Amino acid sequence: MRERERERDQPPVIQSACSWRTGLKKRIRFCNLPFLPFQVYPTNVSLVLASLQVLLPFKEKMSKKPSLVVFDLDYTLWPFWVDTHVDPPFRKSSDGTVRDRNGRLVNLYPEVPAVLQQLHSAGISMAAASRTGEVRGATQLLDLLGLAHYFRYTEIYPGSKVTHFQRLSQQSGIPLCQMLFFDDENRNIYDVSKLGVTCILVPNGMNLSLLNHGLEAFAPS
Ligand SMILES: [Mg+2]
Repeated sequence: MRERERERDQPPVIQSACSWRTGLKKRIRFCNLPFLPFQVYPTNVSLVLASLQVLLPFKEKMSKKPSLVVFDLDYTLWPFWVDTHVDPPFRKSSDGTVRDRNGRLVNLYPEVPAVLQQLHSAGISMAAASRTGEVRGATQLLDLLGLAHYFRYTEIYPGSKVTHFQRLSQQSGIPLCQMLFFDDENRNIYDVSKLGVTCILVPNGMNLSLLNHGLEAFAPS
């Protein structure tokens, strides 16, 4: 009775909600279920939808991905200068290792294959941009080390990387602001970031942690 009196005193809209809730309470008791707090039952659908409306744009923002990820080569993908520290041409031995003309072992930073594979699996296009003068050696290494198939575009020649990125944008039709760039040299980071590219400095070779850092840095831009 007290509950009915309380319902009568409520404004019309609240009263309707209370009546509906009372009915629900009775039905729950009939089924021998405990009457849990209001929020536990799926009665607050509008509240849930309102929460989603707030959360979805944030999730969408965080899941924003670059259209093109560009990597420098020397000291970003491999730990040497291809025009100085090794001697082309390179060859692949029967055991699968890659060596230079003097038999020196040539390799990538350990997590580079996983980095490229992760981006490839996510359907993100990749490019290589290097200012080395050893164009033939760098191209040969990309092939022998099993990286060539990952890169849709390669820009390898001396000079400012502003040119490399302008050409990448022209070739791909991808705006510079949709690109993410990894490089070990501050001068390149400085030049390319002025174009609107999201740039990440690579201090000790490319790795998965740095990739995640780059993707997070790109998302809010
Ligand atoms: Mg470099």
